[in-house]
Amino acid sequence: MPDKKTFRGGVHPLHRSHEGKAPTRDKPVREYAADTVTILMGMHLGAPSTPCVKKGDLVKMGQVIGEPVGFLGLPVHASVSGEVVDVGPVQTVGAVPGMAVTIKNDFADEWVDTLEPLGNVEKCDKDKIVPAIKNAGICGMGGASFPTHVKFAVKEGQYCDTIILNGAECETHLTADHRLMLEHSVRIVDGLRAAMRALDVKKGVIAIEDNKPDAIEAMRKAAEGRLGVEVQPLRTKYPQGGEKQLIHAVTGRQVPTKKLPLDVHVIVLNVGTAAAIADAVIDGKPLISRITTVTGHVKQPSNLRIRIGTMIADVVGECGGYSLEPGKICVGGAMTGLPCPSDLIPLTKANNGVVVYSEAEAAATEETPCIRCGRCVEVCPIGLNPYKLKYLCDADDLKGAEENNVMDCVVCGSCSYICPARRFLTPSFKNTKDKITLEAKKRKGQ
Ligand code: SF4
Ligand code: SF4
Repeated sequence: MPDKKTFRGGVHPLHRSHEGKAPTRDKPVREYAADTVTILMGMHLGAPSTPCVKKGDLVKMGQVIGEPVGFLGLPVHASVSGEVVDVGPVQTVGAVPGMAVTIKNDFADEWVDTLEPLGNVEKCDKDKIVPAIKNAGICGMGGASFPTHVKFAVKEGQYCDTIILNGAECETHLTADHRLMLEHSVRIVDGLRAAMRALDVKKGVIAIEDNKPDAIEAMRKAAEGRLGVEVQPLRTKYPQGGEKQLIHAVTGRQVPTKKLPLDVHVIVLNVGTAAAIADAVIDGKPLISRITTVTGHVKQPSNLRIRIGTMIADVVGECGGYSLEPGKICVGGAMTGLPCPSDLIPLTKANNGVVVYSEAEAAATEETPCIRCGRCVEVCPIGLNPYKLKYLCDADDLKGAEENNVMDCVVCGSCSYICPARRFLTPSFKNTKDKITLEAKKRKGQ
């Protein structure tokens, strides 16, 4: 077995309780389709798609219901067959409502052929792979939701020599990728090989934290005899699955500030994204479902394969309901999860988990003055100085924060987690990054 690699800094959240993964890690994935789905048009980074169906239309599974807009645009597909019962804005996990198409499921699961299946990933026309990825509406399924075909847009003078599949799943509570690697290991390798062939890349690395030895074993078996594919175990440490941390751990290369993985000749894809690529290329199936971990204070913590657009309330119901009065519901794990204003929020292509917290767990803590212990500096995987940045952000000194590289912060939460003074470090950095981005847009007149 090659060395278990890692990166500088990081933390071990919920280490004593196995990162909170124990309730679902051994639970096989269960299929679930709700009575109704509400499919957001803005599930990917980039302009939201434009609905191309209207109330009363009958749609089939895989039918395009949203047309792409702009360079980062992606089509959106119906995740069930049935009748369109609404087209309009709905509440989202963000501050603003999002346009969505709501479909009443007829449970006929009738597919429409929207994509041309390309067949065997080793033999298909490699020039058709990236268009297939775009037409299937695939975006990053690990949380970032960046349109996948755009990652493959290699500019003049650039090249990619390594594709890394992110199977780290370093976030607390989540086991969706773990189960995918156990149950669909060959699909993941097929997706990786398709991605490698699309760009003539010779090396593909599937990187997995060492708290998932069964997944390492399953992926090794699936990778046997597949050209250029290897499995790299990584030390269990958060945020091991961060793009820059993963690249450094696997290749030893540092992505410079304000640069992208392709600048160090690497593309990183989530293992779920790779499986979706295989579904699109081999079977001509668009991205209409995903595995989501539903855990915390629900009666039956589970891994569900949900249709895109399923409401949080429905997945909680499928898991037996709440086991106590929820204090907070988050999409995502404890470190980067986003709190939801209610459980009437539809899940997207990027939502790998729903975690329900009790009122006691959700109770806000008091922020106290910094004691200059330096722990936040030690754990920051980017090498930032969080305690100094916090003073600049609190003073609304955007220029000073930018000069101290706040835009490089990956909002991983490690500094907030370790801070004995319970300083609200990460939320403050996120807020400042948003302000700087908004100012830049205003300057460009956007
Ligand atoms: S400053 Fe940003 S990148 Fe560094 S530990 Fe804090 S949240 Fe993570
Ligand atoms: S960890 Fe908290 S208390 Fe310690 S230096 Fe950083 S901000 Fe200050």
